[in-house]
Amino acid sequence: ARRSLTLLGLGDMGTALARTWLAAGHSLTVWNRTAAKAEALAGTGALVASSPAEAVAANDLVVLCLLDDASIDSALEGTGLDGKGLVNLTTGTPGEGRARAAWAEARGARFVDAGIMATPAMIGAPETGGYVLYSGSRALFDTHRAVLEVPAPARFVGEDPGHAALHDVALLSGMYGMFAGISHAFALIEGEDIAPKDLAPLLSEWLGAMGFFVGNAAERLTSGDFTTGVVSNLAMQVAATGTLLRTASEQGVSTELIDPYFELMRRRLAADRAEHAHEDTAGAITLLRR
Ligand code: NDP
Repeated sequence: ARRSLTLLGLGDMGTALARTWLAAGHSLTVWNRTAAKAEALAGTGALVASSPAEAVAANDLVVLCLLDDASIDSALEGTGLDGKGLVNLTTGTPGEGRARAAWAEARGARFVDAGIMATPAMIGAPETGGYVLYSGSRALFDTHRAVLEVPAPARFVGEDPGHAALHDVALLSGMYGMFAGISHAFALIEGEDIAPKDLAPLLSEWLGAMGFFVGNAAERLTSGDFTTGVVSNLAMQVAATGTLLRTASEQGVSTELIDPYFELMRRRLAADRAEHAHEDTAGAITLLRR
């Protein structure tokens, strides 16, 4: 069915979203701080509002895709939101998501926060595996699910408006940890007679195989049992880190990306060697909470 919605923010991501809604035949009202980006979309059928207030007034569903949480205040300061459904695709922290939900509620609006797990190129291209995490008002999400799924598949992760951002940041944090390991691996072979493109398939395959650690860690954190069925025990792994550190030294590579995790493993072992020697490394997770 043809739906009508408003989008505030036409940066790289907002423009990609807008194009999918327009291509699917929805009626889209847009506003962007720099008007030229909105004008560029007018040719493809977008209705261009001259102010945030005009854009918000045009539709019950208002989607935000601005730079950061602070830019929502500058865009929507003084704009009437009573009765609106706000879907916030702007990246923020869980705390910002919760505060923004309270802010919206105080203005008579329903609110859903979101985390986009995709780049602009993955928008409107479901085969790329991108999707969007949503949390907050289930009723608002259910009402608009079909139109929200036009740019990318939706995954609703709960009614706490902070949980979309929390899932988003958890996934990105895992990703950056992986990027750190990959960076160290490539640095190790630099200057050797090994082409990065020859290491690449081996590294990809190995990381894929080691992905089992995600489910393994989840099971251990749930059961509290870090010892049953361990095939690579912590005492062995801590000893093995010496080999990794000496290899880095032989290759003239800084250990700054791998030191923090090794240090955590050593601390877990040192805290109670008899108890923790037979765990796997998932036990180290318990040391991180301050
Ligand atoms: P861009 O930098 O391309 O666009 C930023 C947008 O925010 C522009 O429309 C800009 O307006 C607007 N903006 C910035 N400051 C203000 C302000 N003070 N008042 C009003 N509008 C403002 O970023 P993206 O489009 O790539 O990202 C948008 C959101 O999507 C971000 O929260 C980002 O984290 C998130 N995201 C982006 C991804 C990506 O790969 N690009 C991936 C996942 C999430 P103007 O045109 O006038 O500068």
